[in-house]
Amino acid sequence: MKEEKTLSQRRRLLLFAGKLGYQTRSLDEAARKLGMDVVFVTDRCHQLDDPWGDGAIAVHFESPEAAAYAVLEAVRGGGEIDGVLAFGDRPAVAAAYVARGLGSPYNHPAAVEACRSKLRMREVFRDAGLPGPWFRSVALQPAPEPSLLGISYPCVLKPTSLSASQGVVRANTREEFVAAVERIRKLLTSPEILARREANLDQIIVEGYIPGREVAVEGLLTDGVLRVLAIFDKPDVLEGPYFEETIYVTPSRLAEGELCAVEHCAVEAVRALGLTQGPVHAEFRLNEQGVWPLEVAPRPIGGLCARALRFQDSNGGELIGLEELLLRHAVDLLEGGDWAREAMASGVMMIPVPRSGVLEAVEGEEDARGVAGISELQITARLHDYIAAWPEGSSYLGFLFARAETPAVVETALRLAHSKLRFTIAPRLPVEHPATGRMVGQAD
Ligand code: ADP
Repeated sequence: MKEEKTLSQRRRLLLFAGKLGYQTRSLDEAARKLGMDVVFVTDRCHQLDDPWGDGAIAVHFESPEAAAYAVLEAVRGGGEIDGVLAFGDRPAVAAAYVARGLGSPYNHPAAVEACRSKLRMREVFRDAGLPGPWFRSVALQPAPEPSLLGISYPCVLKPTSLSASQGVVRANTREEFVAAVERIRKLLTSPEILARREANLDQIIVEGYIPGREVAVEGLLTDGVLRVLAIFDKPDVLEGPYFEETIYVTPSRLAEGELCAVEHCAVEAVRALGLTQGPVHAEFRLNEQGVWPLEVAPRPIGGLCARALRFQDSNGGELIGLEELLLRHAVDLLEGGDWAREAMASGVMMIPVPRSGVLEAVEGEEDARGVAGISELQITARLHDYIAAWPEGSSYLGFLFARAETPAVVETALRLAHSKLRFTIAPRLPVEHPATGRMVGQAD
């Protein structure tokens, strides 16, 4: 049996992350504050032994079992590992294999693998009796004929294993379906996507369009019990044809009964997938037929958006960020703390990309920051870099954050601040690819 550790004993957490950015830094800071050690496991710069000079373990996340072997070898003899945490969908699979090898509480690899495939997830939800649209897997080559596949409209086409709504397209007619397939095929055969070595890039999932409002749920699992940390409304109409995120605001303005139905659906979806430990981020749609799970991911809300969440224990002590809460949870340090989201309403706008091109200028930042309720503005896109709009895109121009007494005020502040920003995006001129001679940069 594992010995109980006291607070004063130094603990070690294994953190799996694809990107070393805001979220990993923030977790590192929380670890320092709590006197803990974090061992990073990442797939960046795997050709170097110690890419950041901080002892990070470099692995390939696309081979999770091999990654697990490498990590177990690397940590052997270095003292006990007290917890495992993953930021991101791909790192979570490797984390699950490692946790199994270490005997650490975490999700079973099969549960995490199911979350990596939108097709598998739909099958799991269907078999568990959860509400869901019709769906089927469709090969991209040869070009599919929708009338032969029994496709009805409106429908949604999506890559099986991408995220952030990249490549997700709604089609209302056969012509839109055919055009969407071609567009997604181009995206999935682009060098940027091929470099990620995702599985099933030759197939997509097509499913019935679910009308309704959408919410996101941030939760924390402990031995299979889900605690909802926040429910975010997405107040913009998300009807397609593309589905980039914009505003998230919490607490939700749904009625009490609807909130209970969302929570119930989240519990059922997580149970169906077999997830048991750590953070979950899930999306749902609501309409007169009930709550429909869109997807569940065994990881926290992505990157900077986590800043919209702060927590406080029941003694009204200091506010802590999501990363610290997850760190404490992963190493079992939540004792005494009945942590809940702060009382203030809070929101984030993922600043949409109006069109693909080269970002030449950003104006109005000071005016946007000056809007009452705005707590922070971060422009994350780099000047003179190419940025892709959805459905090819997957990163935003930046993030606006607001805090206020009510969710309505937060939403208004975000919209007003956004209206103060002006982005100059120049079309990218097509250039000849040096290796293939093909003209690139035109189609997007
Ligand atoms: P990703 O993991 O890339 O975010 P999702 O399956 O969550 O992919 O889809 C992204 C977004 O597309 C959802 O948040 C939702 O707005 C929209 N969407 C996806 N599937 C459907 C559907 N069947 N009906 C309506 N909207 C959908």
